[in-house]
This record gives sequence, C-alpha cells and structure tokens, in this order.
Amino acid sequence: MLWFSDLLKRLLDLVFPDRCAACGGAGGLLCPNCVAQLQPYPLETPTPGLDSMHVGWIYDQTVRQAIHTLKYRRRRRMAEALGDALATRLAAPPADALVPVPLHAGRLAERGFNQAEELARRLSQRWGLPICATGLERGRDTGHQARLKRAERQTNVAGAFVWCGPNAPPARVVLVDDVLTTGATLAACAAGLRAAGTREVRAVALARSLARPPGTGYAKMGQHPPG
Ligand SMILES: [Zn+2]
Repeated sequence: MLWFSDLLKRLLDLVFPDRCAACGGAGGLLCPNCVAQLQPYPLETPTPGLDSMHVGWIYDQTVRQAIHTLKYRRRRRMAEALGDALATRLAAPPADALVPVPLHAGRLAERGFNQAEELARRLSQRWGLPICATGLERGRDTGHQARLKRAERQTNVAGAFVWCGPNAPPARVVLVDDVLTTGATLAACAAGLRAAGTREVRAVALARSLARPPGTGYAKMGQHPPG
C-alpha cells in the first residue's frame, strides 16, 4: 500500500500546492522571495555560559508567520524550509552533536512535536552533524515565560535542565532553538550540559527581536511566546 499512499500524497500536492506562510504565494511553505527578504541578525556577545551564539534573522513579520505556521498550525514541514534557510545562512559550527532545547512534557503532548527538535533534525542533515535529542531534559514546568519579567525569567529557568542520558553528553554541543529571547533558557541548558561533562556549548537560533526594551526581555513589536 506504500505506493498508493505515495501516489495519493503526490496527487494532493498537485491539487493543493504549498502556499508561502508569509506572502501566500506559490513556491513552498516559505517561498524563495520571502527567504531572500529575511534580515540577517547581527552578531552579538553570547549569553554567559555559551561559547558562541548565532541567530539567523531579525524576528520580523515573515519569521513570525513562518514560526506560527510551524508551532501553532503544526505544519512540521515548515521546520524543513526554515532549517534549509538557516543552514544556508549560517556555517556549521564546530561540534560533536546538535541538541534541541527540550520542550516541557505538557507542551510536547499538546503540540505533538518539539519545534526545536524538528529544526535540529533538518540542520543535522544539512550540516552533517549528529543530533542528540534525548538526554537533556526539562526538569519542571517553567510556566509561560512570556508573562514574566527578565529577572523572574532567569530565576524561573535556572537549574531547569538536567542531563539524564545513560552516557555522558557530547563534549562539544550546539544547542538549537527557534526564537531566542533573553538567553536564559540557553544558559540553563548549557549549565545542565556542563554539569554532566560537556566542555563547549554553542547555540544557534532562528530569530531574535532586534530591540529589546530593558527589563522586558524582548520587544513589543514581534512579541512571541517562547517555548
Ligand atoms: Zn513568500
């Protein structure tokens, strides 16, 4: 029956071709025109606890719509489009494995997948780096971070990630996340990995808001619930 489901899928693709999440045009879930218009995020000092930190693009309307389609409309294939674009934008970091930022079990059950893991899977293929999606675990529900102020957010997330793998974690890790806000989650992941023996922790993320008013963590425009 495999050939039949394959055929059916091809027919459905013909009848309902992918529409771009940002402009509604043809050419895939995120069309080449919209990808070309994404604004590269400037290099900035990594969050303490990270050896390097690279963000693909400024969190604008196009990125917001693409991530919304991935996370809330649950179009997992959007992770492939975003992963391809990010792998083209950023060079593969020196590392032994990619580790997606874990999603809390409750949120995972609700959504059915971890968007950071989907993204890491595509980056893994494109960069030729292994993915290590089990081992780093989110210890407790850190709640909806978006509602917390920056300082609260940092204490809320600290110590929330623990390495639970049967073996030691990879020595050189690249954390993968979708939207970077204060960096508190990445710092907590890095602390959990280092406590278990990881020596180098780098991070890549799809996007980050450019202007973050002090104390709020991220900008008014382009607000986005982290997680
Ligand atoms: Zn488009």
